[in-house]
Amino acid sequence: MKTINSRIPEGPVAEKWTNFKAHQRLVNPKNKLKLDVIVVGTGLAGASAAASLGEMGFNVLNFCIQDSPRRAHSIAAQGGINAAKNYQNDGDSIYRLFYDTVKGGDYRAREANVYRLAEVSNNIIDQCVAQGVPFAREYGGTLANRSFGGAQVSRTFYAKGQTGQQLLLGAYSALSAQVQAGKVKLYTRYEMLDVVIIDGRARGIIAKNLITGKLERFSANAVVIATGGYGNTYFLSTNAMGCNVSAAMACYRKGAYFANPCYVQIHPTCIPVHGDKQSKLTLMSESLRNDGRIWVPKKLEDAKALQAGTKQGWEIPEEDRDYYLERRYPAFGNLVPRDVASRAAKERCDKGFGVNNTGLAVFLDFSESINRLGLDAMKQRYGNLFDMYEEITDVYPGDLANEINGVKYYKPMMIFPAIHYTMGGIWVDYELQTSIPGLFAIGECNFSDHGANRLGASALMQGLADGYFVLPYTIQNYLADQSIWPRISTDHEEFAKVEKATEDRIQHLLNIKGKRSVDSIHKELGHICWEYIGMGRTKEGLELGIKKIDELRKEFETNLFIPGSRDGLNIELDKAVHLDDFITMGKLIAYDALSRNESCGGHFREEYQTEEGEAKRDDENYFYVGCWEYQGSDDKAPELIKEPLEYEAIKVQTRNYKN
Ligand SMILES: Cc1cc2nc3c(=O)[nH]c(=O)nc-3n(C[C@H](O)[C@H](O)[C@H](O)COP(=O)(O)OP(=O)(O)OC[C@H]3O[C@@H](n4cnc5c(N)ncnc54)[C@H](O)[C@@H]3O)c2cc1C
Repeated sequence: MKTINSRIPEGPVAEKWTNFKAHQRLVNPKNKLKLDVIVVGTGLAGASAAASLGEMGFNVLNFCIQDSPRRAHSIAAQGGINAAKNYQNDGDSIYRLFYDTVKGGDYRAREANVYRLAEVSNNIIDQCVAQGVPFAREYGGTLANRSFGGAQVSRTFYAKGQTGQQLLLGAYSALSAQVQAGKVKLYTRYEMLDVVIIDGRARGIIAKNLITGKLERFSANAVVIATGGYGNTYFLSTNAMGCNVSAAMACYRKGAYFANPCYVQIHPTCIPVHGDKQSKLTLMSESLRNDGRIWVPKKLEDAKALQAGTKQGWEIPEEDRDYYLERRYPAFGNLVPRDVASRAAKERCDKGFGVNNTGLAVFLDFSESINRLGLDAMKQRYGNLFDMYEEITDVYPGDLANEINGVKYYKPMMIFPAIHYTMGGIWVDYELQTSIPGLFAIGECNFSDHGANRLGASALMQGLADGYFVLPYTIQNYLADQSIWPRISTDHEEFAKVEKATEDRIQHLLNIKGKRSVDSIHKELGHICWEYIGMGRTKEGLELGIKKIDELRKEFETNLFIPGSRDGLNIELDKAVHLDDFITMGKLIAYDALSRNESCGGHFREEYQTEEGEAKRDDENYFYVGCWEYQGSDDKAPELIKEPLEYEAIKVQTRNYKN
């Protein structure tokens, strides 16, 4: 079996990062001026990395597909960002954040990385406050916190329901300062289509100018991808429409390992699917679970009446409501982690207790909190989320609807789990370097810190930790050698070869000239993935899913229709490239899910569950990171390589959110 060196420093977990920083090689300031770094992505991870590297003196080429870095998917982040500041004096600490994250990830994360993440979490808040990010504050002026799932302390910093947007504006300001200083050159509306490897090292990229359609070559001493997650493989997800996995797939096809692809997060609080013309799902932030209570009726006849539309939720009295999370998990209640909450919702709906016409929804009800704290308090906390819900469903969650036995009932939200975040991603070592020297991956596109399930408000923490505090140190370990290497010209034959292969691929797609639109095939892929590789997986289902994806691949190869021409702006052509990669990605998720004969976090194999329906891990056989190596063709099964996990500070045990 092939093994991987994750280059975790020696020593106790709490000292690794300090020791690493104290002893690693640094690049001499003069040499930095000669070194170019490509950063692909301007989300929170990419923008923070590009700004930091520019400020340190490197020459940065920063790419994104949108017309402005500020439009990266990161602006969608609503609820908040975690840090172990312990402002609430409720018992938080770096160790506790570390422990909660490892436990939340169902003991499948790399311990050393998570400790480092918890350590730098506090620096992130300081950095962002210094940038002027308008975090919510208490009346006295101190920063406010709220709670997210999987934690019993309040450690989430937030800016209304727009935390991602405000954080990205902060990072964008820092980035703009470096653009102005001439240290960062921005390439907006450019899409990286391939990575160029010369003598085993990443030396540049081939990118498409999305306006002219032309392919262009860029060389550098190192390449960093910060290109986000692969949730849109499932077609319907909470991700922005432009999110895609193409950059990660390009790296994978060039030899970068893809780790833990089966760990896909299904978020419990999204607006339910309401028709087959939909192309997007909307998240209702997890922060709502601070004050909203999740329930379905206790009686099947009530559920049937709700499904038929002959009864409304607010007509069901307190004693007939089943607050099933509070019932099953008294210690964490509505704030159990996402994987647990999603499965519990599915279990109730599978048993017939769903509350809308499709039977695939549960209630998220604010009546108790409104009665206790008043509607104004709710509006202050979640005003934009309530408005967003009303805009989409025409129901305002704060509207008084009924009074039963002196208790006022307000209109509840209806929610259901949806694909949201991907814990898997390009494998990286402790230094965030992929299995290809000189190629780094940060933010959601790597696999690094969340194990099998990410806790709420920790993606922003990881993206900014990677970009502001980890990569700027670790990349120097690699670049220290590079200062003596001449920069490779884009006239090098390898650049020409990769550019030609990219052009051939585009021409191949254009030449199919079939009858089906990209979206119709993508939608079908989404159905297959949701059905067979979604919330509940089985061996038979996964095998069938792989077969169906193979059939869909044939359909794609023979019946795809791309309108428009090769040159200039052609969004359908860009989407076709993305779909080509989503199909490969879907199969990779299925392979990984099939190989992991256990249930953990976001990966639930129905064969492996306890009598109470909880995920049943198998630590003896699956206590590893599953890394997949491309075998030269999309038709060949990838090879599994294992990175065994080693825990020193945390005792691996069954997750318990009950007491
Ligand atoms: C609705 C929603 C709400 C969320 N709320 C929270 C929250 O409250 N707290 C939290 O911690 N997390 C939250 N998350 C998760 C979090 O927003 C993301 O994980 C995080 O923002 C990802 O950041 P990123 O920088 O890694 O990638 P992204 O923000 O996805 O940025 C990717 C960048 O890569 C660029 N790119 C992609 N492919 C290419 C290519 N081939 N060539 C060139 N450029 C490319 C894009 O243009 C973009 O600039 C939420 C997610 C969603 C969907």
